Amino acid sequence: MGRKLAAGNWKMNGTSADLAEVKALSAAHPAPSVDILLCPPATLLARMSDLAAGGALVTGGQDCHAEAAGAHTGDISAGMLRDAGATHVILGHSERRTDHGETDTDVCAKTAAALAAGLIAVVCVGETEAQRDAGETLDVIGTQLAGSIPDGCTGATLVVAYEPVWAIGTGKVPTLEQIAEVHDFMRARLAARFGDTAADMRLLYGGSVKPGNAPEIFATSNVDGALVGGASLKAADFSGIIAAL
Ligand code: 13P
Repeated sequence: MGRKLAAGNWKMNGTSADLAEVKALSAAHPAPSVDILLCPPATLLARMSDLAAGGALVTGGQDCHAEAAGAHTGDISAGMLRDAGATHVILGHSERRTDHGETDTDVCAKTAAALAAGLIAVVCVGETEAQRDAGETLDVIGTQLAGSIPDGCTGATLVVAYEPVWAIGTGKVPTLEQIAEVHDFMRARLAARFGDTAADMRLLYGGSVKPGNAPEIFATSNVDGALVGGASLKAADFSGIIAAL
């Protein structure tokens, strides 16, 4: 396993004024021992990428269209993200799956488009609270992994984020045993499908990660980093998480 990854997802938050947080974050981590990724709203992507250029921080999109170009008002292609300076793109976040009805098939097509454009895909999976209560967690994760990830992925092109829907923005976090169970399962499933390269696929945990709980989460089996929402918006909070990796 290579370097760990601290990824921030700003979701629909952030305007020009918040770019000051990026400057502060870059300044605080001139030569970090982990990879740092920030995924701002599309409106800030080019400017954030310019700000980050030359430093350790890289940027990503939060979604892309499955097609390279065309009549899709409001959508953004993977190539456009790349052109705006992105190296990564988050795909299949539960908020996209819920708000926009994205299916595993949709996410798979988007992921293929991202890879074709030279982006690293951060594919999200996660069960709802009802699914966990019903004992369906591993079935749900297995189905999402199989359906959302195209053939041909490698440790260099695919990151998987386990984000239990009930842990996102709620302050509720699974037990370390629950996180380990899912991450060990994901590693085994990816290894069965992709072979040795699966050992290099970074598996992120996401859902209410804060500086306070980051150390124990990062010490958990097969956790190679975090996908952070709220606590990635402020450089001080995100720095605390980065320091724990
Ligand atoms: P929070 O860290 O705000 O719970 O969000 C997690 C998430 O959805 C990151 O993609």
